[in-house]
Amino acid sequence: PRVIFSGIQPTGIPHLGNYFGALVNWVKLQAEAGADDKLLFSVVGWHALTLPQDPRKLAAARSDMIALLLAVGIDPKRSVIFHQDHVQAHTELSWILGCLISVGRLQRMTTWKSRLAVARNANDESEIDDSVLNTGLLTYPVLQAADILAYKSTHVPVGDDQQQHIELARDIADAFNRAYSKKRRFFSLPDLMTTPSKRILSLTDPSAKMSKSAFDPKSRIELTHTAAEITTRIRGATTDSIQGITYDPVARPGTSNLLTILAACTGESAEACAARFASRDHGALKAAVTEAVEAALAQPRKEFTRLRAEQTYLADVAAEGAVKAREMADATLREVRKLTGLA
Ligand code: ATP
Repeated sequence: PRVIFSGIQPTGIPHLGNYFGALVNWVKLQAEAGADDKLLFSVVGWHALTLPQDPRKLAAARSDMIALLLAVGIDPKRSVIFHQDHVQAHTELSWILGCLISVGRLQRMTTWKSRLAVARNANDESEIDDSVLNTGLLTYPVLQAADILAYKSTHVPVGDDQQQHIELARDIADAFNRAYSKKRRFFSLPDLMTTPSKRILSLTDPSAKMSKSAFDPKSRIELTHTAAEITTRIRGATTDSIQGITYDPVARPGTSNLLTILAACTGESAEACAARFASRDHGALKAAVTEAVEAALAQPRKEFTRLRAEQTYLADVAAEGAVKAREMADATLREVRKLTGLA
């Protein structure tokens, strides 16, 4: 049997990238899973704290994220839906695992390197604004490994931006096994399950991925956006002045991103979408993307609005999820403590 685990940060309303890169795939896995398979989906609040958060907004975003998981079709009878911060075992395991991985390895993670690049003075490379580089930004991949391994997860369905983090989780699991459990492999090495859909890029800067915490709100389409908001954002999306439509992510990132979005909505390949629009213009492509996105989001948006008014129900779902998650994670930690000599 498989243990399928994934997480999402409560850093805002999920966008098309989260939807096609993660959520849709989670619902699909839930539908296909065997009776013995376990599925866990976590709202990872501790990860959100690696960037400054307004406490009131974070509290609202945590609850909204539970509503959104339900709205897209995650079923609390089938999957464990819970807040990471309701399960203390994650932090304890994170400490133990952090002692098995070098600082250098964490400094080589691309997310850390990109934060470092932001903190570097543009004129003087040796000058670094240390105040924006908190320890959590460096070590959160270890916490992510703990999130995964606390349930002895075997499969982690995430977007392709997460590949390096899952590789790290595998290496950490392997390091733990070698240090503490040579005869019997205590942790199985979790497999990355990337989504078939390609990474969705920012609408205004197609060199970056679409992100909840990106500064420019026009860069993303959120799952709760109205038809009018979807229309405005797609209309404003960066493209190019080349005639005709082709799928060429390197030379035409903006146009190709619209094709990726269309393909994710319709289930075709981006190349097939491009072929349909080969002799047409960006206006026609944008109109089709707008219509397809609206069709994809109408139902989850309606369900989210309904669920958002049911705060007691949402709290109950999270509380029940926490009980189930704690039971599993605490069992792992009892064994981990024994193996490490901390029992
Ligand atoms: P933030 O912007 O707050 O850092 P995020 O938008 O990158 O967050 P996460 O909550 O870190 O999203 O990730 C949730 C899931 O969504 C992960 O599985 C991640 O791989 C996936 N994901 C995030 N952004 C994209 C994207 N642009 N395209 C495809 N998948 C994505």
